[in-house]
Amino acid sequence: MTRTRFLLAFAIVLAALPQLPVPEFWITQANYIGLYALVVIGLVLLTGVAGLTSFGQAAFVGLGAYTAAYLAVTHGVSPWITVWVGLVITGVAAMLLGWVTLRMSGHYLPLATIAWGLSLYYLLGNIDALGKYDGLLGVPPIRFFAIELNTGRSFFYLLWALVVLASIAVTHLLDSRTGRALRAVRGGSTMAEAMGVDTFRVKVTAFVLAALLASVSGWLFAHFQRTVNPSPFGLKMGIEYLFMAVLGGVGHVWGAVVGAGMVKILEDQLQVWLPRLLGGSGNYEIIVFGIVLVAVLQYARDGLWAFVESRLPRRERVVDWADAPALPERERPPHGEVVLDVQAVRKQFGGLVAVNDVSFQVCAGEILGLIGPNGAGKSTTFNLVTGVTAATRGEVRFRGERISGLPSREIARRGVSRTFQHVKMIAGMTVLENVALGAHLRGRHGVAAAMLQLDRGEERRLLREAERQLRRIGMAAHLHELAGNLALGSQRLMEIARALCADPSLLLLDEPAAGLRHQEKRALADVLRQLRGEGLSILLVEHDMDLVMGLTDRVVVMEFGTKLIEGTPEQVQASPAVRAAYLGTEH
Ligand code: ADP
Ligand code: MG
Repeated sequence: MTRTRFLLAFAIVLAALPQLPVPEFWITQANYIGLYALVVIGLVLLTGVAGLTSFGQAAFVGLGAYTAAYLAVTHGVSPWITVWVGLVITGVAAMLLGWVTLRMSGHYLPLATIAWGLSLYYLLGNIDALGKYDGLLGVPPIRFFAIELNTGRSFFYLLWALVVLASIAVTHLLDSRTGRALRAVRGGSTMAEAMGVDTFRVKVTAFVLAALLASVSGWLFAHFQRTVNPSPFGLKMGIEYLFMAVLGGVGHVWGAVVGAGMVKILEDQLQVWLPRLLGGSGNYEIIVFGIVLVAVLQYARDGLWAFVESRLPRRERVVDWADAPALPERERPPHGEVVLDVQAVRKQFGGLVAVNDVSFQVCAGEILGLIGPNGAGKSTTFNLVTGVTAATRGEVRFRGERISGLPSREIARRGVSRTFQHVKMIAGMTVLENVALGAHLRGRHGVAAAMLQLDRGEERRLLREAERQLRRIGMAAHLHELAGNLALGSQRLMEIARALCADPSLLLLDEPAAGLRHQEKRALADVLRQLRGEGLSILLVEHDMDLVMGLTDRVVVMEFGTKLIEGTPEQVQASPAVRAAYLGTEH
């Protein structure tokens, strides 16, 4: 069964369900599953994709639900207006909360969402106008043109239409420029920022989107139950949403539906069977959920959907970008212009001077080698130039402009691109997508355009560029492989293609040939020569001396953070000080 047929079958079953003579209870269940799935789709985006854990989604559901219920009950406002009011209120709340907490390091967000989930619950329960813990009664049903959605079966269609639309929109989003940026923030921000992604903004976006989906679920919830009270919006439910996401497969949009379905059905069955088995009453199902969660995390980390998906035929990406127009290119600096000017930069880590007042320049159309024993400070120098770490003192200029102190992504925007000594990539994304991330700054479409697929023209151009750079570096055979499955040497080449996708004026390569075979090294050297011929400047850290000496125009040698010597490859090779540094002999 192909993927499309699978989804079609799902849609047909869905559409037919309310028409069949199934018990009303089934429809009610399906409606709850849909309501939960909407929230969990948001969590997939937030937790599964962006790697941010939230226990507070139930509170956002509450905001949507209470807004709808209050406005309808006390002011008779139409649901078709209250849904937007709810979205605005939730969006603003999420933005403020995200703004405050997402700047802090990882663990603050889960804690903040717990605090937020708890406080909203007590707040709702203590406001007189909202009926305190009794809540608001008599919420009218939603009217869809002339149809009053006052039965489970009629409500089902509106709800599931929204679930399917949300799934499709989020799937589209993940398959876009913004989607790649979202996936890139998961493993830390260094690489994403080096590709020009504003990681803070991306995180806030994911947080707000997840909250908005929760708000819509709340709106539907209020009109489905026809009453609201604080209990479904407390922390317990917040945890349960996260549980659904993890169980279904936190990285997959359809995992949200599976997870919501599993938890709802399991919960009902357990509530029936456990008291019979164990005698007496109590919330025994919570204990079973805890055990299941541990088992899932232990044995099926990616959740149930990953299991289903591995049995579906793999989606081969249709190449529709072959004839897309090329992206515009940056104007290259004139040959010989000083592109990078490093002036006495210093970096201390506590008492350790990793880079000790080092100065050098790189000109347009030149390859400068940066060599030295392990721990000499080469990678740290890269980090100082690219804004990953702040210099203790000194200054870096790029094309005459001071760039030290700028964030990484701003330096990238000016035309500096790099690779990492320890490969930084998104292992679960294809090689092509990883490389397309490098072209982030050459696109401009955002969330809405991606969800509505108005970005396809631009997307084709970005993918065409990614493919072109991969071909150039000799990786044409690996476009659709998962990056994590590549050999280490190929991963390094992929990083170079990604850096080239940014159309840089200055390229920094940190040990690009490590793990490459002899043939691959020669091919790499050819590509670098060709790039130099096109006017690119390259700063190359490399341990393979044949490669360095055969390729570079000049070489800077570092030892213990200090610049030892600078000169042509011949001069450097003849230097007794360099021999001493490498062989460890006294000079
Ligand atoms: P190289 O790339 O030349 O092998 P590095 O620049 O990685 O050297 O490291 C230079 C020195 O700085 C090493 O002694 C290393 O242990 C130290 N160092 C690098 N990064 C950090 C850090 N974030 N904190 C503390 N020490 C660091
Ligand atoms: Mg290094």
